[in-house]
Amino acid sequence: MQKRIALFGSTGSIGQQALEVVKSYPELFTIEVLTAHSNADLLIEQSKNFRPNMVVIVDDKHYQKVNEALSGLDIKVFSGEKALTEVAAMDHYDIMLAAIVGYAGLASTWAAIQQGKTIALANKETLVVAGDLVSQAVIANKARIIPVDSEHSALFQCLVGENPDHIEKITLTASGGPFLGKKPNFLINVKKDHALQHPNWTMGAKITIDSASLMNKGLEMIEAKWLFGLKNEQIEVIVHPQSIVHSLVYF
Ligand code: NDP
Repeated sequence: MQKRIALFGSTGSIGQQALEVVKSYPELFTIEVLTAHSNADLLIEQSKNFRPNMVVIVDDKHYQKVNEALSGLDIKVFSGEKALTEVAAMDHYDIMLAAIVGYAGLASTWAAIQQGKTIALANKETLVVAGDLVSQAVIANKARIIPVDSEHSALFQCLVGENPDHIEKITLTASGGPFLGKKPNFLINVKKDHALQHPNWTMGAKITIDSASLMNKGLEMIEAKWLFGLKNEQIEVIVHPQSIVHSLVYF
């Protein structure tokens, strides 16, 4: 049976890749919801291609443009931050892909958890800023979180059929980013454009900058702690520039 997907953050790097997957597997997935912050043109194009039931353009300056472009297509158009959480709380989808960037992704993910939804979570910031509350709410509402972040997805796959109590520790790998091995005097003159050139991955701007500063790995350690119920001392990081192995579990 087809799963109905609510794709929050459809115009981003994760969102666009997810739509490629949906396009490749029409027998498995349909798109129910698409959302963007301000990229109206891409949201309109995606909506014409995937024909969701609803779209949200958060920045209301673009509402009229999106609404006019989609008129006659039987697609409901909403705008504003509140619309994001209202749509997230609706009954008409099976899986939320939480792919909004940053803290802005929390409110809609929280609304989906309250409804007991299955959430494919790319938005690591949800767990960074509210991991304790989110973990409790997932249990209380019988919701489910499936990690999308590659390191955590690897851990999730390693743990299928295993008893989580038997985890001794985990290792997250880090590519090291574009500045691996550079001396401090080199780093003084680094510019944004250089930091945006990740050696191994093409991703959105925030996570690429966070990878260059290694902050991303810190966020991922917090994410892993809440996803898998680990203690701080059970989480290790190793620099692995080839990015072949994403994560390891020691039992
Ligand atoms: P992008 O910057 O490429 O996309 C962000 C998406 O969020 C866009 O759809 C954007 O809309 C929307 N958005 C931005 N600000 C707001 C806001 N205030 N309210 C609502 N929507 C907003 O990010 P990524 O796809 O790279 O990352 C998404 C999440 O996934 C992040 O949490 C990131 O850490 C995580 N992640 C990403 C990976 C990747 O490969 N890209 C890998 C692992 C995790 P608009 O386009 O209109 O601005």
